Amino acid sequence: MTDDTAGFTTRAVHAGRSQDAASSRATPIYLTAGFEFEDFDHAAHHFGTGAGFGYTRTGNPTVHAVERQIAALESGAEAVLVASGQAAVVTALLTVAGAGDHIVSSTHIYEGSRGLFLDNLSRLGIETTFIDDIADEDAWRRAIRPNTRALFAESISNARNDILDIAAVSGVADAAAIPLIVDNTLATPYLLRPLEHGAAIVVHSASKFLAGHGSVLGGVIIDDGRFDAEKAGHNAPHLVLPGRGGFPSVAARHGGKARIAYARESVAPRFGASPSPLNAFLIGQGVETLGLRVERQSRNALDVARWLAAQDAVESVDYVGLESHPDHELAHRYLTGGHGSIFTFTLRGGLEAARDFVERVEVFTHMTHIGDVRSLVLHPATTSHSHRSDHEREVLGVRPGTLRLSIGIEDVSDLIADLARVLEPARETVA
Ligand SMILES: *Cc1c(COP(=O)(O)O)cnc(C)c1O
Repeated sequence: MTDDTAGFTTRAVHAGRSQDAASSRATPIYLTAGFEFEDFDHAAHHFGTGAGFGYTRTGNPTVHAVERQIAALESGAEAVLVASGQAAVVTALLTVAGAGDHIVSSTHIYEGSRGLFLDNLSRLGIETTFIDDIADEDAWRRAIRPNTRALFAESISNARNDILDIAAVSGVADAAAIPLIVDNTLATPYLLRPLEHGAAIVVHSASKFLAGHGSVLGGVIIDDGRFDAEKAGHNAPHLVLPGRGGFPSVAARHGGKARIAYARESVAPRFGASPSPLNAFLIGQGVETLGLRVERQSRNALDVARWLAAQDAVESVDYVGLESHPDHELAHRYLTGGHGSIFTFTLRGGLEAARDFVERVEVFTHMTHIGDVRSLVLHPATTSHSHRSDHEREVLGVRPGTLRLSIGIEDVSDLIADLARVLEPARETVA
């Protein structure tokens, strides 16, 4: 159909088509809605078994390459990439829970996740109990009911920089034959791999450190591949009972990988938060340098946190890398290679000092994002946490003078000079 006897528009859509199997070193970007079937039987086989590629919402080679890359870094069996971190959280939860079910979550989670549990999953009949003292194993245990389907928490949480004792909480989850789902966005697999400590499922906002460049949104769900139908089947009837028309159950077809298979074949494509192959490619490019960035960012963050802690204008610094942090010892058990680059600190001058700070920094960018190569600052009390009560904000460690930093890869001397200029105006005038 591509010879020059074909019409203009036919040539426009068919001519020059590449089907070369050139061996590109970088992951090729399969920016295509779908894939041609070789023949009649190939199409039927694809629809019957899900094998191979048919349509990008159900599978794409670029997306799969990035899924394998991230699964390998998280020590997981398999991963599913989705369009955002928020989509990763909802996909993970709808993989394990449905109407009439219940989940137990840490209070110290991303505000978007909290809103999802309170406003959206609740309307689908999934109820959440929140745990404030996440170090209290008994609090987790007591909150579990017969219809509880998962425990949910973040490995390092914002704003207090609490570290989750993953081994302890996953022990509680195991005893109830339900998965512990850990949002590992702030820690990244470079610093911490929750599946190695007993968690069953990890989720990320890939928009943050995994991509690192702040150009795209993405999310990912990684599963340990250890679903045990015998032990946990009563908590997951959708995985162990036959499908529509007597189709073999997910567990019968996928064994230990039943959960992630269900996320891939049922939840993610049906709810439809599929990633763009181009975004997948950009996330994959970012992941290649994850270790280098997080190592540098953690080192920078420690220097900045130490410097801030020594300033008169600063009342407190909540960074788990500082010995003064209550979870500093626990961090030794879980974090390798650094303490991350996101933390909060509180100015003695309260709201007005915080306003002055965000308006006068120059190297830091004032925006709502984290995990970027650039250093960022946000005032949580009037932005991310503005819908919380004063009491809730106090419990969460968000006060009027509290600022959240996400430290980038810049030269740390430039970061500190920027902070010094803002916090010590008098000294600057003298110089
Ligand atoms: C940003 C973030 C999310 C949501 O991710 P998006 O990519 O913005 O949808 C979830 N969890 C944590 C910890 C986050 O920081």
